[in-house]
Amino acid sequence: MKNKDYKSYSYDQLLTFEKQGPVLIEKLVDQSDKKDTKIKDLKSRLEHIDETIKTSVEKKIGVKPGSSFRNFFDKLYDDNFGYFAGGCILLGFLHLKINVNLPIILSAMGAFILIGPGIMIGLMLGLTVLETIIKFLIGGDAQDKYQKKYEKLFEQIKKDKHKKPIELIHKKIEDLDDEKSTLYVERRDIEKALNEIVSLKRRAKNKEDRAKIAAFNNKARSAASYVRASLLKEILNKKKWECPYCHKMYDIENKNYTKLLDADHIHPVHKGGLSTKQNMILVCKSCNSKKKTLTLRQFCKIRRLDYEKTCNVLEKMGKDV
Ligand SMILES: [Zn+2]
Repeated sequence: MKNKDYKSYSYDQLLTFEKQGPVLIEKLVDQSDKKDTKIKDLKSRLEHIDETIKTSVEKKIGVKPGSSFRNFFDKLYDDNFGYFAGGCILLGFLHLKINVNLPIILSAMGAFILIGPGIMIGLMLGLTVLETIIKFLIGGDAQDKYQKKYEKLFEQIKKDKHKKPIELIHKKIEDLDDEKSTLYVERRDIEKALNEIVSLKRRAKNKEDRAKIAAFNNKARSAASYVRASLLKEILNKKKWECPYCHKMYDIENKNYTKLLDADHIHPVHKGGLSTKQNMILVCKSCNSKKKTLTLRQFCKIRRLDYEKTCNVLEKMGKDV
């Protein structure tokens, strides 16, 4: 699955994502949990197969020597843990009560924390010693020999009878693990994007604003070139043309004159001037390159032109000044 690139989301998409993100995470966690349950189930099936093999091995070669003793102690330990613990607490409690005259609750706590575990450890040590003695009596060799035989037969049965299903289960577990990591990556990406949502939104907004401004500028540019073309049309049949700013005369009889003339925004675009016939005027390239973003008044001052006179000229041409 290809990861989503939240950096390329629009502002509106991010707003929706901000709302849906937590829900998505919950869904992903849920899916992952379901896969965990499936994996657990498959693993218990593997355990069950092992259990089945164990039973058939023991049917053939009997149980491990001394295992009846081991089972006996295991059972004693598992089944009677509660009695052990209770006995320990009682013994500890009596011990404290006799020696130190503490309030009863403190005695009980002290007994449980100090004396109880001591007695438990003692009992466990006793069991270990007993087990060692039994092992000595039966003989470690017999157990080792049995173990080797057991393992060999176990592997044999596993290979002969259960190879295919075991392989299949392993494959399924592997696939589920892969799916889980994909879900994890997806979830991590969402969490990361949610953590950065403020800056992502800001970036998207800036990008969209810039795009809007660029689109507006493009429109303005095409409007300006349209006005320039129609201004040029007005002087199509003239032989001479005078720059309304510098009053230099230009020979425009050969039609290359278009290259000599620029269309200036009298009130500059940067200051809100529009690309209309009233605000645009044909001027010589030299004047246009000097005026740039200057207002008419600033331009006249710098070029030492008479501002009032220039205004009159422009007004006569039907321009807004
Ligand atoms: Zn000029």
